Amino acid sequence: MRIRTELIIFFLIISVVPLSAVVYMSYDYSREAIRDTVMTNLLGATENSGNAIDNWMDVRKDDIRVISRSEHAINTEKDELREYLAAYESEYQGVYEEFFLLDLDGNIIFSTLNRTGNASKERYFTEAAKGKLYISDVTLSEITGYPGVILANPVRKNGSISGIMAARVSMENLYRILENIDIGKSGEIFIVNKDGDIIFHNNRSEILHKNINNNFAVKEVTYEKNGINEYVNYKGEKVLGSYYWLPLYRWGLVVEKNIDEAYSGVFNLERQMVSISTIALIAVVLVAIIISRRITGPIKSLEEGATGLLSGNFKPIPVSSNNEIGRLTKIFDDTASELLEIRKKLETKIDIANKDLEQKNKELIAANEELKKLDELKSDFISIVSHELKTPLSSIRISAEYLESEAKNNPEVQKEMFDIILRNIDRLTRLINDILDQSKIEAGKMGLQLERADIREIVNAVIEYNKLLSLKKNISITADIPGNISPVIVDREKLIIVMNNLLENALKFTPDGGSIVLSAKDDTDNIEVRMKDTGIGIEKDKLEKIFDKFYQVDSTSRRKIGGLGLGLSIASGIIRAHGSEIHVESDVGCGSTFSFRLKKAGK
Ligand code: ADP
Repeated sequence: MRIRTELIIFFLIISVVPLSAVVYMSYDYSREAIRDTVMTNLLGATENSGNAIDNWMDVRKDDIRVISRSEHAINTEKDELREYLAAYESEYQGVYEEFFLLDLDGNIIFSTLNRTGNASKERYFTEAAKGKLYISDVTLSEITGYPGVILANPVRKNGSISGIMAARVSMENLYRILENIDIGKSGEIFIVNKDGDIIFHNNRSEILHKNINNNFAVKEVTYEKNGINEYVNYKGEKVLGSYYWLPLYRWGLVVEKNIDEAYSGVFNLERQMVSISTIALIAVVLVAIIISRRITGPIKSLEEGATGLLSGNFKPIPVSSNNEIGRLTKIFDDTASELLEIRKKLETKIDIANKDLEQKNKELIAANEELKKLDELKSDFISIVSHELKTPLSSIRISAEYLESEAKNNPEVQKEMFDIILRNIDRLTRLINDILDQSKIEAGKMGLQLERADIREIVNAVIEYNKLLSLKKNISITADIPGNISPVIVDREKLIIVMNNLLENALKFTPDGGSIVLSAKDDTDNIEVRMKDTGIGIEKDKLEKIFDKFYQVDSTSRRKIGGLGLGLSIASGIIRAHGSEIHVESDVGCGSTFSFRLKKAGK
């Protein structure tokens, strides 16, 4: 789970739980308070109205008592009585529909409506005739259609009942009394008699048309109880009903209010609480998001920074606060920069090491090549040497056999054979000396016996050695050396080997009838020696290689001409030991010139 989500959940838990508890407790308390208030108000209004009805009826009772004691009633002075009653009618407009006087037979002897008739069978008459004020049941007036009651009181003359004074009282006035009770849109106010008949109702059409003795409040009130309760009324609606018993008339006043309307305050409160809770919840979530952003923002930047550092794409994280996270970010930035620095250094070192390694690798490859070359050289050496040894050895063998068998008695042939044997022994000796010289040069063990020498003398000696071959091939060898040439400081024997090797080559690679010139001339500190032939020449790209050991330009010619391919290698080694170098210039078909310098001997 992400830190942000965890923080939001945390904030929700620490704020919503106590908030819910507070909201619930205050809701519960307020709900009960509202319910109590609603009930108290309704009950109070019902009781007040009941009392008002009682008072109002008391006034009516007093009125009828006073009227029945008036002289006009006692003496049946009709005109005066009418006038007297007119005052009541005008004072209580609409309350008294009719005043009428009955004789003891029940005949109506006076009526403000000039009505006549007999009421001897009416209960109000019979009951009042017994000597007490009587209040009839509620009936609908034949004249107005309004509900009303008849109040009848005996008229006494000289202590005995002389008639009955009665008044028809309209209950219309009760509407004025009861209109102060708030019953909402669909509530009801009604008065029932002890049998449960509706004798008064805020809806006139209900009056005396219904018996609702099953209604909870009606039952309660007819048991002469006062109170308030929630119940399902006779219409099947859930109501809050308040009831008040009027004992004098045996009436029950009932006020019923639709429960939702009655407790609308509670529902409003519920709505308010839900709104407040929702707003508080949204506020908490917003605050949680803002705070968690502030906390997780820098952490996220750190995470991105760390990822960048791993992938080598690090950008310093801006430090946005001075708190612990801000300080951590600073430390991280510094550490990352240091790490990058170290990384750079390491990379440079690795680069250098890699280059070094590459160099070493190249050297290794070169060494390997060298080794391969050496290996090839070894093979070449073995094959060339064995071949070169074989030829003179077989000549010696053949000559020796011939000596033993055929030429025993022929001194001329014997001499020829001996010559062949001696020549081949020389050849073998030279070959072996060449190999020994070469190995000495390679081992750096070529010691020089330096001495003052005359180059002319050395050149002439070498020409002399090769005279036979030059005559054989009809090649002219000339020495072109000034008589006053300076002496040189050389190892005489070794220089003879050099000159001999070069001259042998010149003779080998110069066709019959060619010419060879050996020259020497003074240079500042040196004597420059040159040997020029008119031989086959050497291709330009082979010029460097001819000084390698065992190298021969043309292996076919090698076969014809012979040789180990060591001559130039040895010559070059000796001259190098003298601190100089052999150079060659050549044109294929025209000839070659080999040259080197020798140090002059001091005077
Ligand atoms: P070898 O003479 O035994 O073959 P060298 O080392 O003396 O070996 O000479 C190497 C090669 O150089 C020869 O085989 C030949 O091909 C070439 N070479 C040397 N000297 C001459 C020359 N004067 N003219 C033409 N080619 C030459």
